Amino acid sequence: MHIPASRLLSLLLIPPVLGGVLTWSALSAWAADGAAQVPAALLTPARTAGEAPAMEDLPFYRPELAGRYGACQAAHPDWTAARSVLWVNMGLDHPFYTGTDTVEQPDSLTVLVNKYRLLPADYAPQVESVGASYGSGSLRPQAAAAFRAMADAARADGISLRSVSAYRSYARQESTYNRWLSQDSQASVDTYSARPGASEHQTGLALDINVASLKAHFEDTPAYAWLAEHCAEYGFILRYPQGKEHITGYQFEPWHYRYVGVEVAQVCMDRGLTLEEYFALRPAQEEEPEAAPEAADPEPAQTESAAPAQPVAPDPQPDPDLPMI
Ligand SMILES: [Zn+2]
Repeated sequence: MHIPASRLLSLLLIPPVLGGVLTWSALSAWAADGAAQVPAALLTPARTAGEAPAMEDLPFYRPELAGRYGACQAAHPDWTAARSVLWVNMGLDHPFYTGTDTVEQPDSLTVLVNKYRLLPADYAPQVESVGASYGSGSLRPQAAAAFRAMADAARADGISLRSVSAYRSYARQESTYNRWLSQDSQASVDTYSARPGASEHQTGLALDINVASLKAHFEDTPAYAWLAEHCAEYGFILRYPQGKEHITGYQFEPWHYRYVGVEVAQVCMDRGLTLEEYFALRPAQEEEPEAAPEAADPEPAQTESAAPAQPVAPDPQPDPDLPMI
C-alpha cells in the first residue's frame, strides 16, 4: 500500500465522537442507505438523543454545505444529523442530474462518476485491449492488468471471467442513450442507461463481466460468488449493488465492476459501501484520494495477449443487448 501512514491513520482513526473512536466500521453503519443500517441511537430525533452528535461535530461535516444540511433536516425532522449530512454529501438532496459538477480529475483511478458528477465531453482516456483471451473491449492499463490478474486467478479456481463491455466514448454513450430514449420513457431509461458524461464506462475503469442482462441472473452464478469474495483483492468493486439503488440511481447490476485500486475496493466491499458512500464518509479535511500508484496494484501475469497501450480504436457498433450504464 502506498499510502502515507498519517493519512492511513486519519482514515481509520477519526476524531472521537459519541464517546468512542470512530472507525470505518462505525462510519459505514452511518451510511445513509436506509434506517435498518443506521444505529438506533442515531435514529432517534437528534434534538432529543443526548448522545447524538451535533452536525458540526461529525467528521464528515462540510461547512460549505451547511445550508443544504439545514434544509435536509427541515425536510426530514425524524432523521439524525448524521443521516442528513451523509445524504447531502452524496448530493441526494437534489434530484438526479440536477446540481451537477464536471469531474475535475478524470484521470484519477478513484474518480467518482455518477448522476451528479459528469465527465467532460472531450475526455478520452488512454486505454488498451484487455486481450483476446480475456474477452472484448479496452480499459486503462492499470484496470486492464488488474482484470487479467483477476481472471487468471478465477480460472485457476475453475471460474471463467470475460469482459463483454468495457471502455465507451462519450459519443457512443450519447448515441446509445438516445437510442434507448427512442424506445422507452426517460424515467425508465435512466434506471439502466447513463446519460452521456455520466457513464462509468467512459472512465476506462469499468467493465461488464460475462453477461449484461438481468435476465441472465448472473447473481446466481459461481462467477458472481467468486467475484463477491475476491474482486476487492484486485482493486474492483461491485458498483451498483442491490439495495443501493436510491444512492447509485441504477438498478442492481451484478455484472458491472469498477476498478478503484485495492485500498478503496477493500473498504467498500468489506463494509458494503458504494463509492458514493465512501466519499460521503470521508472526513472533510481530507484531500481527494490520490490515484494509487501502479506498484500498489496486483502484479499482473504477463500474457501474450496483453496489448500495449494504444490510441483508442473507433467504437465498435453497439450491441443492442448490452446495458448502457
Ligand atoms: Zn456496465
